[in-house]
Amino acid sequence: MKAVRFFGHKDVRVVNDIERPVPKGDEVLLKIGGAGVCHSDLHIIDEGTVVGTVFTLGHENAGWVEEIGENVKGYKKGDAVLVYGPWGCGHCKPCQQSKENYCDHQSEQAYGGGLGLDGGMADYMLVPSSRLLVPIFDLDPVIAAPLTDAALTPYSAIKRSLDKLMPDEFVVVIGVGGLGHVALQILREISGAAIIACDVTEEKLAFAKELGADFTVNSKDANAAEQIQNITGIKKARVVIDFVGATSTIDLGTKVVSLDGDLTIVGLGGGNYQYSMNGLPFGVSMTNPYWGSRTELMEVVGLARQKKIHIEIEKHKLDDANEVYEKMRQGKIKGRAVLVP
Ligand code: NAD
Ligand code: ZN
Ligand code: ZN
Repeated sequence: MKAVRFFGHKDVRVVNDIERPVPKGDEVLLKIGGAGVCHSDLHIIDEGTVVGTVFTLGHENAGWVEEIGENVKGYKKGDAVLVYGPWGCGHCKPCQQSKENYCDHQSEQAYGGGLGLDGGMADYMLVPSSRLLVPIFDLDPVIAAPLTDAALTPYSAIKRSLDKLMPDEFVVVIGVGGLGHVALQILREISGAAIIACDVTEEKLAFAKELGADFTVNSKDANAAEQIQNITGIKKARVVIDFVGATSTIDLGTKVVSLDGDLTIVGLGGGNYQYSMNGLPFGVSMTNPYWGSRTELMEVVGLARQKKIHIEIEKHKLDDANEVYEKMRQGKIKGRAVLVP
């Protein structure tokens, strides 16, 4: 079968010689409908966040059950499912609570398919346990694939701040890409706060307005923090969610977050932050959440089935993976690119 393989630093190749896996025990073989292209792949390819192993990329996966191992119950050929991405041990307390993104054993195992183990940028993908599947019912796997990350990660980040996102408050979203464009829709649907979106091009800012942002600010502007403070007034933004995570965006977040606010850094942009007593308003919680839980992914599927969120999709062939990654490096993807075998 065909697969998009990561061979090492800046070396991604589309190959045709991978053997189609056969599921045993609790394993499930999926026929891939779509595999989302996440910016985290670029951190792997260009910056070496996963090293020393060759594997198939793609950690935002959806498809149809093709074949099941002899112990799998509750699934049959043709069922449309998402693959929950952060694969934990399945046994520890966080895993039992469905929060495999915070598995006790994260430091001693690969993060999941497409993140050190074989992922879904291929004709077929082997999922190690049916526990990691979430049914999507009538949704199309091609369109639904990015729900597993581009929607789940912002959903989980927003949920942890929900008690602060009241209608008299402001929330700042930095980065209106794959994750950020879904974050805006989730905020519009489940919170009351006024939304200020930041990105670096006029196209992305116009896109943010279409998706429900009340205000937009170009974070490249030298006075971006001042522009945001002119919108929020003295109270500042109760919640800032940074989908870039560069030093400059973290710095912007610290300038616009309110007393007792949340500064949530989702982006893995390699930024640095140095704590200083006067650098952060009192009471601010700074956090770096990773992905979300399996049950939160079920809630995300609910939002999509109710048509409260949608992913803006560009479809591409597996063969075009490298061109798509290049387009992402240049910030030219609107919404999410999905590779369709
Ligand atoms: P993307 O490439 O689709 O979008 C990034 C967006 O940020 C683009 O619109 C780009 O124009 C914008 N941007 C770049 N620099 C900016 C700046 N200085 N100010 C404002 N906007 C700026 O990326 P994505 O797939 O949405 O991923 C975003 C980040 O989140 C990546 O670093 C990715 O690795 C990370 N991520 C983290 C988790 C997690 O669990 N913590 C999960 C998925 C992705
Ligand atoms: Zn991702
Ligand atoms: Zn675990």
